[in-house]
Amino acid sequence: MLASSARAIRDDVAAGRVSAVEVCRAYLDRMEAVNGSLNAFNLIDPDRALAQAAGVDRRRAAGEPPGALAGVPVALKDNLCVRGMRTTASSRILERFVPPYDATVVQRIERAGGVIVGKTNCDEFAMGSSNENSAFGPVRTPWAPDRAPGGSSGGSAAAVAAGGVPLSLGSDTGGSIRQPAAFCGVVGLKPTYGRVSRYGLLAFASSLDQIGPITRTAADAALALGVLAGADPADATSSRQPVPDFSAALTGEMSGLRVGVPRAFVAEGVDDGVKRAFDEALDTLRRGGATLVDIELPHAKYAIPVYYLVATAEASSNLARYDGVRYGYRSSRHAEQGLRAMYSRTRDEGFGAEVKRRIMLGTYVLSAGYYDAYYLKAQQVRTLLRRDYEQAFERVDVVATPTSPVPPFRLGEKVADPLQMYLTDVFTVSQPLAGLPAVSIPCGFVGRPERLPVGLQLTGRMFDESTLLRVADAYERMTDWHAATPPLWS
Ligand code: GLN
Repeated sequence: MLASSARAIRDDVAAGRVSAVEVCRAYLDRMEAVNGSLNAFNLIDPDRALAQAAGVDRRRAAGEPPGALAGVPVALKDNLCVRGMRTTASSRILERFVPPYDATVVQRIERAGGVIVGKTNCDEFAMGSSNENSAFGPVRTPWAPDRAPGGSSGGSAAAVAAGGVPLSLGSDTGGSIRQPAAFCGVVGLKPTYGRVSRYGLLAFASSLDQIGPITRTAADAALALGVLAGADPADATSSRQPVPDFSAALTGEMSGLRVGVPRAFVAEGVDDGVKRAFDEALDTLRRGGATLVDIELPHAKYAIPVYYLVATAEASSNLARYDGVRYGYRSSRHAEQGLRAMYSRTRDEGFGAEVKRRIMLGTYVLSAGYYDAYYLKAQQVRTLLRRDYEQAFERVDVVATPTSPVPPFRLGEKVADPLQMYLTDVFTVSQPLAGLPAVSIPCGFVGRPERLPVGLQLTGRMFDESTLLRVADAYERMTDWHAATPPLWS
């Protein structure tokens, strides 16, 4: 059962071949068994999960329609609010925060019969590429005990890769769904900006953040996106674009598809093994009937600086609300020194080093005198980046790159050098800046004796997740990378 897809579980539960409670028990056991070595979960809530699963079984017995995710165990990144369930963003400052409301995605999952099992570890406030910026310790990729699972949704990706859940949710601001999916050998989809409501997502950078699924197959990503997507009155940036039947798009066909390859962009700084796996993946796409087209993204080389200006600016504003007054941690030291001292001590004690670095960077780029030179300039280049993609999509249907230029690196290897860490985001920051959807799928391994997973990233037109999922699914039918299981699995 643990190797099942979300789709298979849903079908079995809907047909009564297995109960949601049995499924839930099996996955809870698995989670407990793997979490000691992975540290993928900040919280597992067996009682709530089993009660929810029992509700699914009861409704089925009463003849109600089972729902698209009937009985499917789901783990949520710990920056998604669940009413009554501790939600920390892996930060000290929210260590004891219990939200009084559900995120829209939570409501949608539960309405579809999904069973929420707990909250996954992540980089603090989703800031990071390795999960090492968590107040609750790093996660490990199930493929190698001393290596990073990627970030910031590292726990969500590791949990799926290790068979702890068939589906988890992450958030992606500059790669946080796709890069951990690549580092853990699973599928990660960042939807188009506006496709999924952000209501109840603890904000990092509001013009970039999107919620999306992490799964083991493209078909499960399609199933999940169908549940998550759609307009929401509680999020003014959610889109009214019609939500297509993503599962129906999975025809297995890619003949006639034009795949753009930004050769100059992927030529530099990419690990040899990653490059080999990427070239092989392109070959597979060609064998499947796709045509490879050389394209240029002339401004892609500025994507990292643009992202780290825009994202930090928005973060400095969003994180101003954590001041110890209404909710979250409050410092009690030297209370007699007054309000200002309370604010600064609360923030000093509550935030970790990377979050503080970003608040300072963002405050600086927004400050009078520097605003035009940094923030405004970054917004202008952001427009140029979007145009690069618009031009490319006149000639191609999807753009292919590696997800990450490097395979999973060692814990501790990059954390002391923020710039090195930021540079690993080179292929995943331009899509959120342009609002575009992108998916990472497993496309091979590098290294020996360890096998370290490599991800292929496909970027699509606005609101064209269907094409991404169709290509990802067709690619899966031609390969078996997605079926490989990490050593921890058995
Ligand atoms: N790694 C990027 C960062 O550190 C992206 C994070 C994200 O997508 N949330 O900002």
